[in-house]
Amino acid sequence: MKKAEKKEAAKTENKEEPKMNFLELEKKWQAAWEKNKIFEVSEDSKKKKYYALEMFPYPSGAGLHMGHALNYTIGDIFARFKRMSGFNVLYPMGYDAFGLPAENAAIKAGEHPAEYTEKSMINFVSQQKALGLSYDWARKVVTCTPEYYKWNQYFFLKFFENGLIYRKKAAVNWCPKCQTVLANEQVHSGKCWRHEDTDVEVKQLDQWFIKTTDYSEELLDKVRDLQWPERIKIMQENWIGKSFGTDINFKIGGKEWPIFTTRPDTIYGVTFMVVSSQHPKLMELVTAKQKKEVEAFLKKLGGVSEKEVEELGKEGVFTGSYAVNPLTGDSVPVWAGNFVVADYGSGMVMAVPTHDQRDFEFAKKYKIPMKIVISPESKTLDIKSMKEAYTENGILVNSDKFNGLKNREAIEKISEFIAKQKLGKKTINYKFRDWLVSRQRYWGTPIPMIYCDSCGVVPVPEKELPILLPKKIKFGKGNPLATNMDFVETRCPKCKAKARRETDTMDTFFDSSWYYLRYCDPKNNKEAFDKKKVEYWMPVDQYIGGAEHACMHLIYARFFTKALRDLGFLKFDEPFTRLFNQGMLHGRDGNKMSKSLGNVVNPIEIIDKYSSDSLRFNLMSLSAPDSDSIWSDTGIESAFKFISRLFLGITNIKIGKSSPKFESKINKAIKEISLDIGSIKYNLALIKIRGLYDSIMQENEISKKDLESFMKLLHPICPHITEELWHNLGNKTFISLEKWPEADETKINEKFEQEEKNAEKAVSDILNVLKIIKEKTGKEGGKIYLYVIPDELSSYNAEAISKRTQKEVKVFTVNDKKKYDPGGKASKAKPGKPGIYIE
Ligand SMILES: [Zn+2]
Ligand SMILES: [Zn+2]
Repeated sequence: MKKAEKKEAAKTENKEEPKMNFLELEKKWQAAWEKNKIFEVSEDSKKKKYYALEMFPYPSGAGLHMGHALNYTIGDIFARFKRMSGFNVLYPMGYDAFGLPAENAAIKAGEHPAEYTEKSMINFVSQQKALGLSYDWARKVVTCTPEYYKWNQYFFLKFFENGLIYRKKAAVNWCPKCQTVLANEQVHSGKCWRHEDTDVEVKQLDQWFIKTTDYSEELLDKVRDLQWPERIKIMQENWIGKSFGTDINFKIGGKEWPIFTTRPDTIYGVTFMVVSSQHPKLMELVTAKQKKEVEAFLKKLGGVSEKEVEELGKEGVFTGSYAVNPLTGDSVPVWAGNFVVADYGSGMVMAVPTHDQRDFEFAKKYKIPMKIVISPESKTLDIKSMKEAYTENGILVNSDKFNGLKNREAIEKISEFIAKQKLGKKTINYKFRDWLVSRQRYWGTPIPMIYCDSCGVVPVPEKELPILLPKKIKFGKGNPLATNMDFVETRCPKCKAKARRETDTMDTFFDSSWYYLRYCDPKNNKEAFDKKKVEYWMPVDQYIGGAEHACMHLIYARFFTKALRDLGFLKFDEPFTRLFNQGMLHGRDGNKMSKSLGNVVNPIEIIDKYSSDSLRFNLMSLSAPDSDSIWSDTGIESAFKFISRLFLGITNIKIGKSSPKFESKINKAIKEISLDIGSIKYNLALIKIRGLYDSIMQENEISKKDLESFMKLLHPICPHITEELWHNLGNKTFISLEKWPEADETKINEKFEQEEKNAEKAVSDILNVLKIIKEKTGKEGGKIYLYVIPDELSSYNAEAISKRTQKEVKVFTVNDKKKYDPGGKASKAKPGKPGIYIE
């Protein structure tokens, strides 16, 4: 407990705790805001815009959880602050409504995904309203509506027209019982989530890809300039993973395979190759003799989930093929492995077990020979006694004409030699892959493509959009779209012959890649958005969400912006200027909130018991919004009590004239709290607001203006009670739309601050002396006399000190001729430190 709080508690200890019921008051103001549409905005060229946005939620059946409440409260405080600071604030909300969970719920409970989603959304909206969030609800965007996904299809066609979309075979998880493709999340330890006895198979299917890699360089280059948390920028850089290296052409069965490496200095040490077990051409490399073994291996891997790979460890199988090293002429075996990515480089890597730990472990496991090509300068390596790969720098050995070179220099020398001899070339490689957007599932946007036996793949003409997702479907075997003949059977747009529709739907990351643009013009049925409106509102000035979206969503959205810019839809490069990641809120036991641990705190239950303002106040008091925090039951209790006291205290304060001391205090607070809220350090703002409230309670009266300033400072965090208090003062406007107070610097007087500190120090000195007296004599001290330097007299208020020490207090100046000073303590007084005598 802080000092001020203790004081406050002492003051009300003997009185009955105020038990306020804020629920009705909160509902009243939520309804008034909605009725008066005060948060609805439109473009206004005279006002500076501000676009504040939280990542939109997936509307799950479980409703709002505390993490959501935290996320949205952080955003709402910011939006309210910016609105009051004079900006035209766009602050919208919507729902990422397509996706697997709704489909899973449908399969399990027999409920249609559309109904499940609709019900969940209604629940979400009412819960978000109960939190008092100041969204412009007229701009609500729901991705599963044809009004929205029509434009997904439109952009898909635009990308296709411009060569940004292509088809390619890729590995998918396949359940032979479900007769359908499974998402990685639906594969549990290599088995189908619905059929625990059924091994998941890997199938190569034709899939739609978006050429996100066309933008690798720009995505990497521009991330540095963003005002984003450093760790998110680093994660994006690593995800894109640019590296400079060399493609070396190995020959396998007469065919050339360019193998990417950043370590051409180890080329003479290659003793085997590893091709990805998901490589579409893997079976072409497998010899008849090895076929059975490879198939058994693939079955054992069970699916393409990377998590499974981590559990299994590095596994491999010999394909039967050999690759010829273009520098040595050696033939080395080609293995298939589960740890090589199918579309990194050519999906195959050269392995140098002596100088790469992963290759070393693999070679040991499968008894593959090794060869040393880098030697430390001080000792000689011996393969037989090596316990791990030698990965340090050294001198090249066993490397023909490059022997004796330092290996770092050899990288350049050998790659130059390879290029000269046309055995390969220098190249840049990225880990970043093209985006696989095909999903063999129902609850998503239908991909607007048609297959015709004579014309091939034909895009749906734009005027036929949207291709509606059929409502009547049967779940069971396979993708419900593929078994719905009314949907599948169509005519070819080119030759009018019978043709088939694409039954794949789009990855829902496609939906979330441009929703922030739709908010700028959500009801447009002629275009995805009006360019002028988007130009006014975009880019998003402050984006708020979880760090788990560091890569996928935030990279796809950046890609989309750049691609739409190049297609003439947009005039800016980056969608989100500033990004804020909120911390994780853990359960009261310090663990992640989860049903199984029974530590879940439901925000709506808290609001019903304590009020939304109390919840908001408590969430923002726990810690800095970007650090992790732990839910505290005493915290919410104390927030509720504080707000109840504050409500009564402010209601009863006498309005008159503020003392210069209080004026100094409040102007300093305005200055500091504005900075705290502007930099999303709400916890610091709250400490100052509590302090300011304590100061108000020590004043006999304060001015109406100062009282209103206090309400405004508190408003973003506690919007409901401040709206009520504002109206109780006789105001007819909404405090939500009032102007943020400005600090009058001329009123800030550091002398008052110093005085306050001195008085505080004197009180603690007195309490200390009283304690010593009691310890020494066993008696309570009596009357207290203070002797102060004359011009400090105003700092020491006898009444205030008496209240704190529970003793009678008298204050004299040291030069007071009539002072009572039996201990001669007046001579001990110094500036800022009074002499003290206790009877
Ligand atoms: Zn299954
Ligand atoms: Zn045709």
